Formats: sequence, C-alpha cells, structure tokens
Amino acid sequence: MEKILIVDDSTIQATQLKSILDADYEITVAQTAEEGLGYARCEDFSLILLDVVLPGMDGFMLLKRLQEEIITRSVPVILITSLSDIENEQRGFTLGAVDYITKPFHPVIVQARVNTHVKLYRYRKQVEQQSMTDQLTGIANRRKYELYSSDKWEEVVRLRIPFSVCMIDIDKFKVYNDTFGHPSGDKVITAVADVLSKYLRRATDFVARYGGEEFVAMIVGDEARKVFGYMEQIRKQIEDLHMEQDPSVGKWVTVSCGGVTVIPKNGDKYSTYLQIADAMLYDAKKDGRNRVVWFGDDMKQWKSVTCL
Ligand code: GH3
Ligand code: MG
Ligand code: MG
Repeated sequence: MEKILIVDDSTIQATQLKSILDADYEITVAQTAEEGLGYARCEDFSLILLDVVLPGMDGFMLLKRLQEEIITRSVPVILITSLSDIENEQRGFTLGAVDYITKPFHPVIVQARVNTHVKLYRYRKQVEQQSMTDQLTGIANRRKYELYSSDKWEEVVRLRIPFSVCMIDIDKFKVYNDTFGHPSGDKVITAVADVLSKYLRRATDFVARYGGEEFVAMIVGDEARKVFGYMEQIRKQIEDLHMEQDPSVGKWVTVSCGGVTVIPKNGDKYSTYLQIADAMLYDAKKDGRNRVVWFGDDMKQWKSVTCL
C-alpha cells in the first residue's frame, strides 16, 4: 500500500483527511512541521498533504526544507489551506508544490487529486529507476551517479560533514576477458558489484558502476580512517571470493581502490576530489594492484598494510 503523510495541526482536519484516504493508502499524521520533516526523512511516502498554517515552522517553510533534501525532494506535496488568495497559491507552486487544495474541501476532489499525483509519482519513479540502473549489475549507473554526486556534494558542503569518494577498478581485467571470455568477465563484474552493494548499503552510502570494470563509491559522515578500513575490507572480500584469474596476473581476481576523505568548505569543488581519488587509484595500480591507496586527512597517502 502506498504511504501518505498528512501534516496538519488540527486533529479534526487530519482525521477527516485520513478517513477520506484510509481505504486506499497507509496514512501517517504529523501535527507539526518538525514532526513531519522527521517522518518524511525516514519513511518512503508517495505523497505529502501539507497544511500551510502550522505552529512554529509553517507549511511553506517545511516545503522548502523538503525540496532541499535529496531523499524528500521528489515526493509530491499538495498544500491544504484556507488561504485562498492567489499570492499564497503562487508561493506554494514556486516552492515546488504539485497541487493546492483550499478548505473546505470536497472528499471526492481530494481523493481524485491524491490518486492522480500518487499514480504520476509511481510512474515517474519506475521510469527513473530503470533509467538509473546498470543493466548488467543492477546497481546505480553512471547517470544516477552524476545526479547523485552533485546533489550529495551540495549537501555535504552545506552541512560540513566528512565526505569520501573512492574509485574501484578490477585488476588486469583485459587479461581476464582474453583468458576466460567476455561472458565470464560479466559474471566477475556482477560479483564485484554485489560485494560493493552488500558492504555499502547504509542510507549514507552510495555505489555505482562508473563504466566498464570501474566503480565509484561515496560515503558520507564517517571519518577518513574508518572509510579507509571499509574499503580495505571490501578489497579483501573480493579477493576472498576466489575467482580464478589468469596465472600470469595472479591467483584470484582482485581490485584496486583509490580514495579521499574531505570535510568540504565553501568554494571546494567535487571534481578536485574525484581527481584525487583517481590519482590514488593510479598509484594503487602502479604500486602493484590489489590494494587501497587513500589520501588521508593528514595530507599523506595511506596504503593497505597487507600489501606493503
Ligand atoms: P588495470 O589493472 O590497469 O585496470 O588493467 P585492465 O586490463 O583492467 O584495464 P584496461 O582498461 O586495459 O581494460 C579494461 C577491460 O575491461 C577491457 C574491457 O574489455 C573490459 N570490460 C569493460 N567493460 C566490460 C564489460 O561490461 N564486460 C566485460 N566482460 N568486460 C568489460
Ligand atoms: Mg582494470
Ligand atoms: Mg579501468
């Protein structure tokens, strides 16, 4: 059942709305904007019905906040208010509301509008999902990565929290393909993607297929040492899958990882850090592959101890 969030300080109104929609949707009610924001951040709603006049943070302010955050941005918001003047309506649309219902409302109209927006949202999500997924591995593709990285970067600059980006590349994969064939190579790429998505599955983690046999990961909120440790575990886990490699390269298929952790400040550019991660990957390859090279917060390179 699709979930709908109602944010309304009037219990009577919220109950009325709930009774109109209860049969078709799973309804959550929040009485303040703050509470609503909390719910919206951690649950997957298909629509938010938002009262404009609220104590404390008002509906417009909440709408603005919802639009600023990646996870809540795409959820359609219908404003519900008794403010029937054009100016408020205009303000609502400018801030990103998809529709506007003025009180007193007619149940059938509310139902129809809600159904339409939920249906549109579901369809949009489905198309989006398909166009952002890598066909072979089922993880995010390059396109999703481009969108996600620019959004995420904006957010971490604003919040000033640690941000890590890491490039992961399968070692000597051309040789692998030449020896074992392209279809087997595809299986290896999928197995590597599986390990990556198994390890990087928190809401603050992200991993995508960057292209060919190369992946990119982003981790938010953890300090450099910790992320370096995660990547080392991932590298080891991939080696431990014991996927046979051509003997001229080594016993098993391995990956090299290069990354960097930064607490961004205004004016910093994401591309700078992506380049650093790429340079670290280059060094990991140069140093003999099957290792993690990190640009640490002490401005020095950190390398996998096991490989030294
Ligand atoms: P290095 O350790 O320096 O990364 O060497 P490499 O051989 O992995 O790097 P290189 O860039 O020379 O070759 C990458 C190979 O990855 C070549 C290409 O055939 C293979 N590859 C890229 N995409 C796919 C794919 O979707 N499936 C398969 N099976 N192979 C792919
Ligand atoms: Mg490679
Ligand atoms: Mg490569």
